Amino acid sequence: MHRGAIAEISLSAIAHNLQIIKEIVRNLPVIAVVKADAYGHGAVEVSKRLIKEGVSFLGVAYTSEAIELREANLNTPIIVFFDNGNIKDFFDYHLIPVIYNEQMALSISNEALKRGKKIKVHVKVDTGMGRLGLIGNETVKTLFKIAETPGIELVGILSHFSEADLSDRSYAHLQLDRFIGIRDEISKILKRNIFSHIANSAAVITYQDAHLDAVRPGLMLYGYSPLIKNPPNLPLDKEGWGESLNYLVPAMMVKTRILCIRDIPAGIPISYGRTFITKRPGKIGVLPIGYADGYSRLFSNNADVIVKGKRVPVVGKVCMDLTMVDLTDIKDSNENDEVIILGRRGNELINAQELAYRSNTIPYETLTSLGNRSKRIYVESH
Ligand SMILES: *Cc1c(COP(=O)(O)O)cnc(C)c1O
Repeated sequence: MHRGAIAEISLSAIAHNLQIIKEIVRNLPVIAVVKADAYGHGAVEVSKRLIKEGVSFLGVAYTSEAIELREANLNTPIIVFFDNGNIKDFFDYHLIPVIYNEQMALSISNEALKRGKKIKVHVKVDTGMGRLGLIGNETVKTLFKIAETPGIELVGILSHFSEADLSDRSYAHLQLDRFIGIRDEISKILKRNIFSHIANSAAVITYQDAHLDAVRPGLMLYGYSPLIKNPPNLPLDKEGWGESLNYLVPAMMVKTRILCIRDIPAGIPISYGRTFITKRPGKIGVLPIGYADGYSRLFSNNADVIVKGKRVPVVGKVCMDLTMVDLTDIKDSNENDEVIILGRRGNELINAQELAYRSNTIPYETLTSLGNRSKRIYVESH
């Protein structure tokens, strides 16, 4: 049996979500974020489809991710958000570096001069995220300096929101104001427009003023809204947005099969630490998936899976390679039957928001954990 899970990725769902984004932003250019292997969905296959559907740029974290796309013969412009170590790769693979300090600009300039080339770059400014980018009163001056550096052509600037997903958008407003201020100043000094982008998925959905010249959605492409903090069937916390974004279609379904079914009497402890004791004679299913496969140990006694269209609970601790579920209420379940970890069957749905909620995290982590450790297959629709 294949260990772990199968992640079934619907490329038509991703195409659909891209069309939704394009409608929302009225056909502005989309920089499709495909870092971390497209949030667990597989960057090469996802990018191929996104290009076919008309994205203008791809966005990745590191040059290694961009190289994988180039080696798959994808020629779309690729923006590399975070890498500063592989300067040669920016040139060899025609990538667009995001420069976030002067030193990086100098290294890129040196390489450009060595090659007798000029390279297009975007520069990141930190407007309040506190992660990477030019910061402080010298920002515009440094931008100008970078624009004047030989071998470098400053074509774009970008910034990133810290909390565009909250219902209180005062901090997002502050960040956007700073960003627009910087954009206006540098455009005036250079006497040309600088291509500017700041909007992640949350800002695509809630913050039209932030759409600017292009948008950079990630999570939305894969069918989830960052605004919904909790699954619909659980009470919303105080940050929860009640609004539903049903128009996005989740692209990932995660499945496994029943490894073994055991008849177990009442009073038997299940798994490490005896955290679950059977209350009745019944059937316990053993699944070939564990935390080594991205199925969080926090799902111990705390998540469901779907078998034959019904929810059944995880019982006992999730192990490294195995998880037990209570199949007593499922008639005629058999070894090798399909088990839905994430996705829909019949009237039941387990989405990434639910799994994220149960494991005290966000759908981003749920999707990357499961998607990047499963065997992926691609389908048109689930
Ligand atoms: C990950 C990332 C995004 C996309 O964020 P989502 O919330 O998934 O839309 C956009 N820009 C940068 C720089 C990122 O790192």
